Amino acid sequence: MSASQAESRSDLLTDFSHLIDGQAVTSDDWMDVINPATGRAFARCPKAVRGELDRAVAAARKAFTAWSKTGYDERVEYLKRMAEALEDSQDWLGELLTREQGKPVAQARGEIGRGKGQLTGLSSIPIPVETLVDDEDKHIELHYRPLGVVGIITPWNAPINLALGPIASALYTGNTIVLKPSPYTPLTTLKIGELMGEIFPPGVVNVLAGGDELGQQMTEHPGIAKISFTGSVETGKKVMASCASTVKRLTLELGGNDPAIVLDDVDPAEVAKKLFFAGTVNSGQVCMAVKRVYAHEKIYDALCAALAEEANKVKLGDGMDADTQLGPLQNRMQYDKVRDFLEDTKKTGARFLAGGDIPEGAGYFVPPAIVTDIAEDARLVREEQFGPILPVLKFSDIDDAIARANDTDYGLCGSIWTKDLNKGAQLAARLEVGTAWVNQHRATHPLVPFGGAKQSGLGRQYSILGLLGYMEPLVISVAKK
Ligand code: NAD
Repeated sequence: MSASQAESRSDLLTDFSHLIDGQAVTSDDWMDVINPATGRAFARCPKAVRGELDRAVAAARKAFTAWSKTGYDERVEYLKRMAEALEDSQDWLGELLTREQGKPVAQARGEIGRGKGQLTGLSSIPIPVETLVDDEDKHIELHYRPLGVVGIITPWNAPINLALGPIASALYTGNTIVLKPSPYTPLTTLKIGELMGEIFPPGVVNVLAGGDELGQQMTEHPGIAKISFTGSVETGKKVMASCASTVKRLTLELGGNDPAIVLDDVDPAEVAKKLFFAGTVNSGQVCMAVKRVYAHEKIYDALCAALAEEANKVKLGDGMDADTQLGPLQNRMQYDKVRDFLEDTKKTGARFLAGGDIPEGAGYFVPPAIVTDIAEDARLVREEQFGPILPVLKFSDIDDAIARANDTDYGLCGSIWTKDLNKGAQLAARLEVGTAWVNQHRATHPLVPFGGAKQSGLGRQYSILGLLGYMEPLVISVAKK
């Protein structure tokens, strides 16, 4: 290693630790964390191994005994304190999130801020006790009880948003947790772990940074009762297979290839603004981003031109710069994948109305691209691009558009855009997805279930449906005679 490299490594932030049984601990192994705006490491954090996972699971199991006996009201108070701690730390946590994830700092702070709504919203939902039968012979009730230790595994695109829903759901319903963020974006989650360590009793919350293998060890671990996994379809299938060995409960929030269908009665410029944002915010690295646009032939050209105008206006840059609207892609692997999509799309003869070229220089920057005249079987249409490249396809018959929108193994979300709200709702009901929107895309709420149909997921997060996924139904049946 050269002197200058050694010097630059001494600049790395290293003030990070796991949280195990209420204690800040580190590991023998450490891993670099890259700032995607520069492509260079700016921090290092400990990398947990199996022994540390075993300690975290043992601590969580021990803590479960007392935590599961606390009442809902008591747990709500803990979650409120956590929401306040997040609010107090929103600014600096947001900056750290931008440095490791890349998104503009206002959006990163917004992601931390939304956590407050998840914590308070989910813990405002009453868990029912239902009387199923009450007659002369029997009184039968349906109760729900916590499962035990929940393992939460999160991806790199919105690490905090995607951790806090499962964290709130698991803790409110009386479970304890072991949380593992993506190795690409572990830092903000570790810092939130530190905050939680000051609030929750030891062992209730455990946070470990580690590689993919640590995630796999969690899915196999006999001490973990449920896995809440958010990530790609490919990994989700491995998680599901691995959980089978111990019949773990499982919630899978996986990838999407969301269609947006635009009818001929809209104002193309107005819709283009909303569609462009929904397709490219966070540089398109959003599970429920618009990933395919189907536009009626009457407004096709106008919509494509308006989308291109939006794309050409965008300020791409380091998320720490106040005027940046789109940051870099989060990591080298995703950057290479998106470049592959661009090259492949060019080969198909499709037209780029905006974008298509990658700027020289450091960082994983990809300008937003609007692609028209593209074949239905192009990779960009069939696969999840997870980048700021939006294909726009033409239709003349709405039944054909719905059939093409549904012709995929994905089924996360979709949207219909029209001035006729009744017609919009009727068409939305024909989309084979978990959430179908009219005149919007990407709107979630802690009181509204979210999740995927088909291979986009299993189970739901949020709402009573999501919460019950963190609980075991328990029938109590009393014979009166
Ligand atoms: P990924 O599947 O590569 O990784 C997700 C997490 O799983 C990481 O923490 C990783 O370390 C861990 N992991 C990797 N291999 C594992 C294994 N064999 N067993 C257990 N854990 C393992 O996903 P990613 O690339 O980080 O995230 C992008 C994907 O996530 C996209 O497909 C996106 O659509 C999807 N996503 C879905 C939602 C949703 O709510 N439906 C939300 C955000 C992202």
